[in-house]
Amino acid sequence: MSYIAQSTIQAVNHTIDALAVVGDYVRLEQRGGRYVGLCPFHNEKTPSFTVNPDLKLYHCFGCGKGGTVLNFVMEMEKLSFPEAVTLLAKRFGVPLVYEGQQDPGASLRIQEFEEKTELYRRVAGSFHYLLMQSPEGNRAKQYILSRGLGVETLERFRLGYAPADRRWLFLFLSKKGYSEAFLASSGLFSSKYPRYSFFSGRLMFPIADPQGRTIAFGGRLVSGEGPKYLNSPESDLYKKGQTLFALDQALSAIRKTKAVYIAEGYMDAIALHQVGITNAVAPLGTAFTDEQAQLLRRWAERVYLFFDADSAGHQAALKAILTCRRNGLAAEVVVPGSSGETEAAYKDPADILQEAGPEALQKTAKNSIIDFKYLIIRSRSFFDLSGSEGKAKACAFMFPYLETLDSEVSRMASIDHIADAFGVDRMAIIHDYTSHFNATPRYVSRRGKEEENPQTGESIRMNDELYLLIAVSVHYRLYPKLRTSLLIKEIEDPWAKELFIALEECFIYDESGMDAFLSRISREDLRNFVVKQAASREFSSNPEQLVSDGIKRVKQRRLEKRLHEIVMELRMAERGTAEELLDEKRHKDAELRRMKEDKQ
Ligand code: ZN
Repeated sequence: MSYIAQSTIQAVNHTIDALAVVGDYVRLEQRGGRYVGLCPFHNEKTPSFTVNPDLKLYHCFGCGKGGTVLNFVMEMEKLSFPEAVTLLAKRFGVPLVYEGQQDPGASLRIQEFEEKTELYRRVAGSFHYLLMQSPEGNRAKQYILSRGLGVETLERFRLGYAPADRRWLFLFLSKKGYSEAFLASSGLFSSKYPRYSFFSGRLMFPIADPQGRTIAFGGRLVSGEGPKYLNSPESDLYKKGQTLFALDQALSAIRKTKAVYIAEGYMDAIALHQVGITNAVAPLGTAFTDEQAQLLRRWAERVYLFFDADSAGHQAALKAILTCRRNGLAAEVVVPGSSGETEAAYKDPADILQEAGPEALQKTAKNSIIDFKYLIIRSRSFFDLSGSEGKAKACAFMFPYLETLDSEVSRMASIDHIADAFGVDRMAIIHDYTSHFNATPRYVSRRGKEEENPQTGESIRMNDELYLLIAVSVHYRLYPKLRTSLLIKEIEDPWAKELFIALEECFIYDESGMDAFLSRISREDLRNFVVKQAASREFSSNPEQLVSDGIKRVKQRRLEKRLHEIVMELRMAERGTAEELLDEKRHKDAELRRMKEDKQ
């Protein structure tokens, strides 16, 4: 799809009323020029959450969260950046323009998207009619009812039937006026024989995007020959690794519970919906991917993996656990059979529903264990823990999981648990782990010393240079003054330098607004630091004075430093260079004097 134009993003930033937007979620009170409220991101009784309506920034002094109002909406609604822009554009009446929309190619793509999803919607409707009403579809209907699904579920998921006659769909759609070329490119027909339907004699599962627009189909064979399951080919519209079956149906329940069940197949996801577990989705004939995890991360915090109770299912669960953890999702694994009532003979959710009934499926779904415990149980069954070799292997099996943990504290806690579970010395695990990942033994030296994190470097401290650059960031209109007074190379502090570069980039590319500026800062800790400072209101009064004083201070410090260097150099200088240095010293002394006099 196309990107939202930079001009639209800027217009949205300029137009939105920060107090109104944040006020939807937080009750704000004015206190001496500041707007404060109870932070929605952490529990508190006295307000430490502040909003700066001029800069359209928020910051919480309690938990440290902060950013632009756009970031706030993204966080609260679990939206992507373009989605948040779209939402606010609609609310404040800013027309949405997409990048390159002037170019007819882009609008054609949007038009094509709409035409294709409309075609898919109609085809899904026709297949659904054939399943529910036609004698030919009856066999498929009986099959699906025999699996324990009710008629309302068939309606809700718009399940359908594709006739065995491969020419039927083409004739049907041609009569509706669709051109042969359009149909050939629709993904519904064989690439070799463009009048022959891709799907025939199959029970059809429409696959939708999160907004509920049909973008592909999955088909299960009911009669004739061929693979048991078949999916639409990938297209601009449909990327299987980025799509989840039933997500459109599950979204409201996922939002509510902040949790999601992942089953292996269409039938499994639908079976869970049938018994009231409506936050269930399924990947589309692939392993659970990082893109799918990131998609779910917008709404969910926890994933329940409900896979087959066979070895392929276990393998899939192991991979999915790592995918979840890597993408910031907590994971639990549903373990059929451990309740003692449902035996492992029932393989997957659809089987459990069919063979043991809805209550058994509901009960099993609640039977989950956290991923770490699951991995310990699996490694106990894979390896012989009576010998040291088996123990070493069992520990190594846990390493990829340890690697996905984002905090040292939880990693150390997990290592302690592994040591207990396998009867291994924890230092031995740490040693093996660090050599496995070819890393320095950071866990030993850094234990209990959180602040010495090499990834984030030393903490950011305020200094004259940084103070000046933040003042200019807050009052961007003063940037031209700064760039004619100081050069980037004259700045020493690395943080201030990075802000200077970001400001210069905004200047060159003619972007304004805190959002554009912040997006050019790559380090998150620096970004947070700027937001925190900007929100403090320290920079709000008399900005011109603040900036010109700041420039003077930085220049003065620089001069003093250079003079000090000259004195040091003079002590060691030869006669010829000493003359030069003395000249420079006289010159700089005079400059410094002028500067100090000017200050009064
Ligand atoms: Zn907070």
